[in-house]
Amino acid sequence: MILSVTMNPSVDMSYPLEEFHLDTTNRIDSGKVRKTAGGKGLNVSRVLHLLEADVCSTGIIGGQLGGYIQKELDKDKMNHHFLEIDQESRNCLAILHNGKQTEILESGPVIDQQTQDDFLELFQKLLKEANILTISGSLPKGIPANFYSQLIELAASKQIPTILDCSGQALKESLSGKTKPTVIKPNHHELGALIGEELAENNEDIYQALQHPIFNGVELILVSMGAKGAFVKYKNDYYSLTIPKINVVNPVGSGDSTVAGIAYGLENKMALTDILKSAMTTGMLNTMEEKTGFIRKENFDYYFNQVSIQTY
Ligand code: ADP
Repeated sequence: MILSVTMNPSVDMSYPLEEFHLDTTNRIDSGKVRKTAGGKGLNVSRVLHLLEADVCSTGIIGGQLGGYIQKELDKDKMNHHFLEIDQESRNCLAILHNGKQTEILESGPVIDQQTQDDFLELFQKLLKEANILTISGSLPKGIPANFYSQLIELAASKQIPTILDCSGQALKESLSGKTKPTVIKPNHHELGALIGEELAENNEDIYQALQHPIFNGVELILVSMGAKGAFVKYKNDYYSLTIPKINVVNPVGSGDSTVAGIAYGLENKMALTDILKSAMTTGMLNTMEEKTGFIRKENFDYYFNQVSIQTY
């Protein structure tokens, strides 16, 4: 089973408006408003579920919004086991207007030490069933930035590889921990932020950035570059991944889908090149759909065969 962690899930609400008027009332047909179980890890779980992988979502959830998230997952027949708390989970709003997206993200509950300990207890129980761990997204308030290192260490002690997809301080601290994540999937902005540089989407700059000692000990680093594919460091080897030109409908959630593709490849014991192709394929398939964190499995093989890999 793949265990997929989302520490701060949300009810994601999207309001598509023709135009957004500031400082006055905006009205929308209720039928156009979409409410979904959100959080990066839940996108990863959904894509894995659509690939018919065995996946369980976990994290910390609470209140009516927590209940709504669980019901949505149940509707999709997605397996989940969250730690339930008294505080409300959060809402995240996306206002889609004039071809742009304005987001309002609540911070969510504040998690005390006892709740963190309770989660770690649940996590260790779930880990017994797992052979791959994915961790995605930000940490809720109250949880220290090195928390993911604890999850990574617990997984590593059972020889379970971890794919970590987060940014900022949580990623920095996880890379400075005693036990490194097995896989990380930064985009070029997140990679640049780690080493305090503004990086362009080009192989030479990314290759140079990956020489930084902070990346030592991470087995696989997939730096995703949107339509340009990705640049990869695997142990001491480097690869450039190129993808075909496709019709992009909504690229939100492509990074999460890429993580799902890596987990799917690992779960199916694919060769490295196929894991990388799988990652690119799920990323591409997500961009071709309106819904975030959604793919059509029937298109997988066609796009998988169009990913090309060059050693760098
Ligand atoms: P993130 O969402 O984390 O910023 P990216 O935008 O780099 O991640 O996208 C992840 C992957 O999704 C890419 O490596 C690629 O496979 C696919 N993808 C994203 N945007 C596009 C696009 N415009 N055209 C084709 N594929 C895309």
